[in-house]
Amino acid sequence: MPFPDLAARLAQVRLLVFDVDGVLTDGTITISGARRWSVTDGFGFLLARRGGLKTALCSGRNDPEIEARAERLRIDALRLGRMDKGAGVTELAAELGVTPAETLFVGDDLFDLPGLAAAGVAAVPADARPELRRRADWVLSAPGGRGAAREVIEAVLRARGDWERVLAEFTGGGDD
Ligand SMILES: [Mg+2]
Repeated sequence: MPFPDLAARLAQVRLLVFDVDGVLTDGTITISGARRWSVTDGFGFLLARRGGLKTALCSGRNDPEIEARAERLRIDALRLGRMDKGAGVTELAAELGVTPAETLFVGDDLFDLPGLAAAGVAAVPADARPELRRRADWVLSAPGGRGAAREVIEAVLRARGDWERVLAEFTGGGDD
């Protein structure tokens, strides 16, 4: 972790804001307009909700597939068709009643740089553009669309001390 105090900062996070293409997906969109969504990441959103975290999407694109996915994952708030990710992050934090310092943003490409700057914790998938990796507080081990969201969600739940409780709902106990 590039910042020694990252775990302490993750413990303050209450809202996770994700860019969509290249973060929740591998960045590809088929000619018919379909994306490939990760079931593993999708399940992470259920864990986030059970752990008391709020979630939001902020994308420059605005199409029904993203809305449908957000509804299925029961994401708390959306900013679609929003090119200004800095304003998007600030607005989402205000809408959901958290401070920017309590907000973590995940983005992968140049449009996301203002979002990284606006959030308390700036995270990027392993395969984000180099300009983003240089400015991130946290470069994830997983690439976009293949575990990046799940990695963020589990790490924040662990840092906040909520992971064991969430896990216990599946194991029937508190063991890891
Ligand atoms: Mg992107």
